[in-house]
Amino acid sequence: MTVERAAEILAGSRTAVALTGAGISAESGIPTFRGQDGLWRKFDPVKVSSIDAFLEDPATYWTAARDRGNIALAARPNPGHAALAAMEGAGRLVAVITQNTDGLHQAAGSKRVIELHGSGRTVECLHCGRREPRSEVQARLHVEMPPLCRGCGGRLLKPTVVLFGEPMPVAATQEAFALAEQADVILVVGTSLVVYPAADLPLAAVRSGARMIVVNAEPTPFDRLAEVVIHGRSGEVLPEIVSLIGA
Ligand code: NAD
Repeated sequence: MTVERAAEILAGSRTAVALTGAGISAESGIPTFRGQDGLWRKFDPVKVSSIDAFLEDPATYWTAARDRGNIALAARPNPGHAALAAMEGAGRLVAVITQNTDGLHQAAGSKRVIELHGSGRTVECLHCGRREPRSEVQARLHVEMPPLCRGCGGRLLKPTVVLFGEPMPVAATQEAFALAEQADVILVVGTSLVVYPAADLPLAAVRSGARMIVVNAEPTPFDRLAEVVIHGRSGEVLPEIVSLIGA
């Protein structure tokens, strides 16, 4: 059985890491980008989420972000997030590398979380660099569009997420690749594995000798590299694995 096999592999691991994507937060009510109910069946990503589009028309970006941000800020971790935190607590997982910007791994109790695409929980002034909580900016979006910095007199604010066309955070990317290359197991959860360089991490891990487990609702382009592939909901599959490990 695949769930049993995944539990057996993780129970014997010493340096396992998880790589997560939007799918792990789907059961918390946050829409994914791709996949069956993905947002990009409705929006063009480059038009909505690129740095060029943001700078050209920040009000349009912030209007879309207002609704999406409200969903993410109100979301609670689901049993999938909790299962990964339990694995870390039991010493079966070294870290979670995530493409998500929702902060739900930390909310579930995961301690070492590498955010490859930044965090949607804060915003930053593009002029003076001052940061403030996203929740505070979100609260004034109905009277201020686009929202402006209160520190330097009205310059543009941007969520601290990596938009298309922006560089990846160097330290987080290096840490993620170092963890993948040292990992004896890579557990890939809820990601379509089409966004790079995140999609290179499983390959880097497997090339360095890691065993790979995939838990995803739909097939990914890297399933053939995995020893175990489970096509299911992470909020159901991960707790089953945890209970079999006894974490
Ligand atoms: P993606 O949207 O490209 O793919 C999500 C994958 O999750 C799909 O393959 C889908 O089949 C799978 N999935 C859906 N529901 C699932 C469930 N319940 N259990 C297991 N799998 C499930 O996501 P991605 O690969 O992370 O790439 C999207 C990019 O968009 C990322 O870079 C991320 O930064 C950003 N994003 C973040 C969030 C978030 O923070 N929650 C949400 C949407 C997009």
